[in-house]
Amino acid sequence: MGHIGIRDLEVYAYHGVYPEEREKGQTFYVSADLYLDTWKAEHEDDLDASVHYGLVCESIKDYMTREKYLLIERAADEICENLMKDYPKLNKVCVKLYKPEAPIPMPFGTVFVETSRSWTEAYIAVGSNMGDKENYIRQAIGMMEETRGIQVKKVSELICTEPYGYTDQETFLNGCVWIRTWLPPEELLKRLQEIEHKLHRERKIHWGPRTIDLDIILYGEEVIHTKDLSVPHPDMVNRMFVLGPLDEIAGWAWHPVEHKTIHQLKESLNEREAEKHD
Ligand code: ATP
Ligand code: CA
Ligand code: CA
Repeated sequence: MGHIGIRDLEVYAYHGVYPEEREKGQTFYVSADLYLDTWKAEHEDDLDASVHYGLVCESIKDYMTREKYLLIERAADEICENLMKDYPKLNKVCVKLYKPEAPIPMPFGTVFVETSRSWTEAYIAVGSNMGDKENYIRQAIGMMEETRGIQVKKVSELICTEPYGYTDQETFLNGCVWIRTWLPPEELLKRLQEIEHKLHRERKIHWGPRTIDLDIILYGEEVIHTKDLSVPHPDMVNRMFVLGPLDEIAGWAWHPVEHKTIHQLKESLNEREAEKHD
């Protein structure tokens, strides 16, 4: 991964807690570090393979001036998140925002905030067994794509499966979605639950009928065990309706606890199921 740096870009803007700051404005400075794959740009001398730092500077000015924020934390965040959205070649962005004219009644050099965002690859299992199942799933995927901080990279075929756990219910439609996200795992879960909620998911019976179910299967190679979140999903290794679709779109993805690829996990589940039937 290569790196493009911008230092002390001067922007006149109107952020601050005091009304006067939001009326008169002041000078801010922005430094940004943009991480991307620069191999092709380095070897082929091709601007299309890189990002145009002139345009990035224009964009930063735009993000800094189109709104007035109370806090520089918020303004820095806005720069980071918009750069990630508008320049898809970037894998990671670090931004420092300096406010040398901050209202501090004693001599000082400057104040600044620093923030960063980077993409993580994640895999979401989708399932529905009520109403127009395919429509619920397509809507959920559309809503993921619309969510700030989530990009949908690939969607598997949707497959019909018999219910799991609580079996006295309609058959399921299941699939997997490969996304990249800069949301932390707990925030990603919240966004997915909001989508479930909007699509009228009601939690009545565990493993019972649902319009839509969105589970985080893998989040990079992270291992997470909190009250609300277990990643990798603890039961994924036993579920062909997860491993099948996931193998189709990301057979190489790595399970950080089993130390196997998705493809290997699917093969071993196939073997275990075949043994059961012998
Ligand atoms: P299962 O997780 O066994 O497939 P389910 O999807 O039917 O069961 P839900 O009722 O949708 O279960 O979710 C119950 C809780 O599981 C959620 O409130 C959430 O906090 C928690 N949870 C833990 N790990 C995950 C994960 N990886 N993805 C989604 N939810 C999770
Ligand atoms: Ca589930
Ligand atoms: Ca769930």
